[in-house]
Amino acid sequence: MGKLAAIIVLGVLFSMQVNSAPAVEYRLVIHGGAGAMPRAELTLERETEIRSALDAALRAGASILDVGGSSLDAVTASIVVLEDAPWFNAGKGAVFTHDGHNELDASIMDGHSLKAGAVAGVRHVRNPVKLAREVMQSSSHVMLTGEGAEAFARTRGIEPVDPAYFRTEERWQQLQKFLANEKKTAEVDRSTPSYLGTVGAVALDRKGHLAAGTSTGGMTGKRWGRVGDAPIIGAGTYANDRCAVSATGWGEFFIRAVVAHDICARVAYRGDSIEAAANEVVLRTVPGLGGDGGVIALGRDGSFATPFNTAGMYRGWIGPDGEAHTEIYPVATKP
Ligand code: ASP
Repeated sequence: MGKLAAIIVLGVLFSMQVNSAPAVEYRLVIHGGAGAMPRAELTLERETEIRSALDAALRAGASILDVGGSSLDAVTASIVVLEDAPWFNAGKGAVFTHDGHNELDASIMDGHSLKAGAVAGVRHVRNPVKLAREVMQSSSHVMLTGEGAEAFARTRGIEPVDPAYFRTEERWQQLQKFLANEKKTAEVDRSTPSYLGTVGAVALDRKGHLAAGTSTGGMTGKRWGRVGDAPIIGAGTYANDRCAVSATGWGEFFIRAVVAHDICARVAYRGDSIEAAANEVVLRTVPGLGGDGGVIALGRDGSFATPFNTAGMYRGWIGPDGEAHTEIYPVATKP
């Protein structure tokens, strides 16, 4: 009898402990790139298009998270929507290289397993984030580049697209401006960002698992097979089960500062909050080196931060209340 009572007491205590553990909710945060155009140059029409694409990406990811789907699936789904939208520098609408091509980079990381996949310099892959995920799941490698990545894509049944698919007139004109400027000054003017609109997502699912992904066309006028931070695990993308980060900005500086991993390392080793860690790296380390850009960072408790040191950063977030929030410029109150 005494034994039975003890078992019952233990059972009650155990269930109290389980019930009192904070319910894991879900959260999705996305970005459509730092270096948003100055407020005065953004037409209402363009703002509406951008916000509705962000909104669609949030809903695509949230519909997966809401029914208990994985953060990895949510990140992939959100990024695919943004890659397909012509307003962002990823997939359709990617910036042009110096010699007039679109070369796409993407990466994805699963915080639970610490598995990751990335591709760089692909020219015929409609949704590079899907290929990055295939690299993670169906190869023994983490990163594939150029023609090799495209050969691997074919083995996974990913049909190549005509490179003309990625072209938008606006991006073409950006390249013409870049080339004219380069001729005039004999040097590339780095004071105006030649990146705009990389995309990324970080998500926390109901099981408490985090994931992160990033996709980009890189920087206008890039040459010699230049690869930025977006496909580099630890620089543009990183996730473990405490912290997930996707970055956007001047990639060379983000690589040197190992931005995404540094943020998560601060959370893990110093016990920093997501916000403190992200702010420190984006608002001190990166500008201290001379770079600019921003990140979205998400913690296992659903707390998140979206710091940037550019005029703006296209961004949005959503949680279980189903309300999608989108922002472009700094806001007085924090999310
Ligand atoms: N970080 C990207 C790169 O350097 C560009 C961007 O974020 O817009 O390739």
